[in-house]
Amino acid sequence: IKRERLNFIEQEAQKDLQLPKLAGRCLTTRFPPEPNGYLHIGHAKSICLNFGLAKKYGGRCNLRFDDTNPSKEEQEYVDSIQEDVRWLGYEWDELHYASDYFDQLYAWAVQLIKSGKAFVCDLTGEQVREYRGTLTSPGKPSPYRDRSVEENLELFEGMKSGEVADGARTLRAKIDMSAPNINLRDPVMYRVLRAHHHRTGDKWCIYPMYDWAHGQSDSLEGITHSICTLEFTDHRPLYDWFCENLEIYHPRQIEFARLNLSFTVMSKRKLLQLVKEKHVLGWDDPRMPTISGLRRRGYTAESLRNFCERIGVAKFFSTIDVGVLENAVRDHLNTTANRVMAVLDPIKVVLTNYPADQVEQLEAVNNPEDASAGTREVPFSRELYIERDDFMEDAPRKFFRLKPGGEVRLRYGYIIKCDEVIKDPATGEVTELHCSYDPETRSGSATATQRKVKGTIHWVSAPHALQAEVRLYDRLFLAENPEDAPEGKSFLDNLNTDSLQVVRGFVEPWLASAQPGERVQFERTGYFCVDSKDSQPDGLVFNRIVPLRDSWAK
Ligand code: ATP
Ligand code: MG
Ligand code: MG
Repeated sequence: IKRERLNFIEQEAQKDLQLPKLAGRCLTTRFPPEPNGYLHIGHAKSICLNFGLAKKYGGRCNLRFDDTNPSKEEQEYVDSIQEDVRWLGYEWDELHYASDYFDQLYAWAVQLIKSGKAFVCDLTGEQVREYRGTLTSPGKPSPYRDRSVEENLELFEGMKSGEVADGARTLRAKIDMSAPNINLRDPVMYRVLRAHHHRTGDKWCIYPMYDWAHGQSDSLEGITHSICTLEFTDHRPLYDWFCENLEIYHPRQIEFARLNLSFTVMSKRKLLQLVKEKHVLGWDDPRMPTISGLRRRGYTAESLRNFCERIGVAKFFSTIDVGVLENAVRDHLNTTANRVMAVLDPIKVVLTNYPADQVEQLEAVNNPEDASAGTREVPFSRELYIERDDFMEDAPRKFFRLKPGGEVRLRYGYIIKCDEVIKDPATGEVTELHCSYDPETRSGSATATQRKVKGTIHWVSAPHALQAEVRLYDRLFLAENPEDAPEGKSFLDNLNTDSLQVVRGFVEPWLASAQPGERVQFERTGYFCVDSKDSQPDGLVFNRIVPLRDSWAK
């Protein structure tokens, strides 16, 4: 029997489900994005973890928009997040917005004031920071800490009803200014902020802080396991304090290490900067590590889920090689993508002994990994295109592709011999190869194997091929850790200025019916996807998902 290795969160969850506290509850998780940008591959990890756990244990998983920061949040982001979660293959049990809990949070804040556990403070943001102290020095209590319950209630009401200027007052929890954990030094719960909220409009001019909103939202939804990333470990005592002091249902926060990928930036703030400053063409630019970018590039949802499964869940910071992600999509497409022939840098071949008006249909295997994918016909004629670098004029002995006087097999077709090299007299550039074919060597025929040559190359029939724009993407950053920039430089200085190369090539006519988003393997080259935005039936556009082999591997 193959023993399944459970990640540490799953092990903890399994143990917790035996606790009397959770009796009658099913495992309940949530994915809580802030709608201030598009989701990226790091979020995919959190999605797979939260939705995956719920699915496996017959539990529930909610999608909750953590929309407590109105100045950065937009409906466009809300919509894209839902689309991305669904595309990854998950459906939430309930859809919530933290803003739906604003009334309840306000009532709970009043409750804490009444029990003497929260106070209105007139210190400015800067003063609050100053008074808070540091890791090595204790904090100093706010001079407003000992206001009476009545005064606090009145002032808090005033904050809510618009009597206070932005930033002039806050509501703070009264915990412990000498706590070793700075998060417990009377943290701010509410700030005054006049900003239009994408859902509550202008109803509120006070907004809850993350720590005050998050745990209480979890509690309201009956979340059993509130899974978050390691930065929140130090916030857990505060998470616990709020639940305990409100005497409400108390979920368990568990932290894991956020996903970092080499050659990639992952913070939404930086991704937004790439978009705004037009270093990329949008959030869904195929070079972006966003889910929408990866989708447009041609990544499958299954390959992203497999990737998340493969890398596991860690308790400590680490960086995953982006090659692991690329391998995940290679592995999936190897079994699912049809093979076709495409020539991206063409050179013309004329078969001088092939009848000018003859066309043959050759049978080609669609996917050697999947017999049910069947076969297709590929037209063959006197004029073909082959890849420029499959020919070499002064070739070394071990070059088994085409060279003057040499022979090569055309995939699914014949053995041809290069008789003459035609050059542009002005530039010396090779423009055409005149070759002869051996009619006895057609693939699949009885006599095909009588003669053997070492090399096989791909080709397309010139009069039948379709022109296509092919976008060859490379990594967006040249540095393994793009954020690691010298003094005075930023991650932008690590951008790869050659991350997109556009070429015009030729593809088999079979691709005329290819649908937007369809993925194929161009034989010997890589995996490609019909661009979902720009490709037209009479103007095909392909994105390179990944080359066949990792050209970056040493
Ligand atoms: P960013 O810094 O990119 O803006 P964030 O954590 O602020 O990320 P949220 O919208 O708050 O973004 O994230 C929603 C959920 O996704 C959170 O639970 C967060 O922990 C998780 N998450 C975000 N980035 C990663 C990552 N790189 N790896 C794993 N989980 C992540
Ligand atoms: Mg966040
Ligand atoms: Mg953020």
